[in-house]
Amino acid sequence: MKMINMSKVLVLGARFGGLTSAYTLKRLAGSKAEIKVINSSRFSYFRPALPHVATGVLDEEDVRVDLASALPEKKINFQQGIVEKIDASSGLVYYTKPDGTRTEEDYDYLIIALGAHLGTDLVKGWDKYGYSVCEIDYALKLRDRLSNFKGGTIAIGSGPFYQGKNPKPKVPESYVPMADAACEGPIFEMSLMLTGYFKKKGMLNKVKLVVFSPGEYLSDLSTTSRKIVREMYKQMGIELIDNFRIKEIRENEIIDETGKTIKADMTILIPPYTGNPALKNSTPDLIDDSGFVPTDLNMVSIKYENVYAVGDANAITVPKLGYLAVKTGNVAAQHLATRLGVQVKIDQYYPTIVCVADNPFEGFGVAVKDNTWYGGNISIADPSPLNHIKKELFHKYFMWTKGDMALEKFLASW
Ligand SMILES: Cc1cc2nc3c(=O)[nH]c(=O)nc-3n(C[C@H](O)[C@H](O)[C@H](O)COP(=O)(O)OP(=O)(O)OC[C@H]3O[C@@H](n4cnc5c(N)ncnc54)[C@H](O)[C@@H]3O)c2cc1C
Repeated sequence: MKMINMSKVLVLGARFGGLTSAYTLKRLAGSKAEIKVINSSRFSYFRPALPHVATGVLDEEDVRVDLASALPEKKINFQQGIVEKIDASSGLVYYTKPDGTRTEEDYDYLIIALGAHLGTDLVKGWDKYGYSVCEIDYALKLRDRLSNFKGGTIAIGSGPFYQGKNPKPKVPESYVPMADAACEGPIFEMSLMLTGYFKKKGMLNKVKLVVFSPGEYLSDLSTTSRKIVREMYKQMGIELIDNFRIKEIRENEIIDETGKTIKADMTILIPPYTGNPALKNSTPDLIDDSGFVPTDLNMVSIKYENVYAVGDANAITVPKLGYLAVKTGNVAAQHLATRLGVQVKIDQYYPTIVCVADNPFEGFGVAVKDNTWYGGNISIADPSPLNHIKKELFHKYFMWTKGDMALEKFLASW
């Protein structure tokens, strides 16, 4: 039962966005908030290391957090369940528990952190020939396929990003550029990692890597950083093909929307990104025309003032990046804490691309920090052994804190 003066907060989703919001809000608001996290799985996974699972560097247990014990330890309730829809006008969330019971639950405040939908259904032939690293099951399936691969062409790339256009979020327009791909960092990382993987196996001469992009590859980075990547690819013998919006995967080739083909004996895809089906099923004016939630700079829905959205589910995060999910999660928690009567400083949201593409096989990583896409002047793409260690520490830190990125400010500014 809810105590008097305690507000009930439901957090939907438990990866970077949801966990950051829940942990930060608990830390700031303490007993003023009764927080419940609802997530489809009992486990959360450290997504940036799924490429490491796919290449056999790490195992499933190394990247898995058990929410059923981690959250109650911090006095946050956890409920496993699949969210079917949100009725934002009457303040209800509808979800199905693992035993099949359909439940509706009310809230004083809602934080939506359901991520985006991986649109494998939009790529013909996916079920038969497609591989990915975006979820643990995909990473494990790819690990098997890679270990049996005898040589040939591997195509790696992103599907198109179905980004919403209307209504627009209430943030400066330059913060939300239109993007062809939702997230190409993992493609860059996989291209480095697979080179190291096959080198270690002594079969790099039997493998050709082709990287494709639905627009211009890594268009969210500065021209200088893109040039560095193109130069790296030339030296590594990786072919790069821009403007290839994948539509179909066949046994030995992929096809784009215009009928162009690329030879591919194996295809590794970041699937097309669209809005989460649970959100598309929700109160229509909660979402934009692609199923993402438009908010203001405090992550408050432009229509429902007791609803927040963070991470990939929010229309303002472009590209879809863990760093931005953590940032938006922090802002939402701080803003909500102030509404619950706690005096705290609310961070100002300003997008920046911060990530590390790792190559553990050769002991280096490329650290990227870039805000030129949003009109800023930071443009760093730095390959070094230290950056490999940074990624390892990021992973270890996430696992140690069970997904509480409280020190993100310091980690990201190393
Ligand atoms: C392979 C890969 C590697 C990446 N590496 C990096 C990196 O190195 N650095 C970086 O900054 N970013 C990286 N990213 C991007 C980053 O992982 C995402 O931006 C981030 O995970 C978004 O967090 P989120 O919490 O908003 O959404 P998600 O991570 O998508 O989490 C959503 C959560 O909601 C749950 N959920 C979804 N639908 C429902 C439902 N209907 N009911 C209940 N629960 C539901 C999901 O199970 C999940 O737990 C990578 C992405 C991929 C795919």
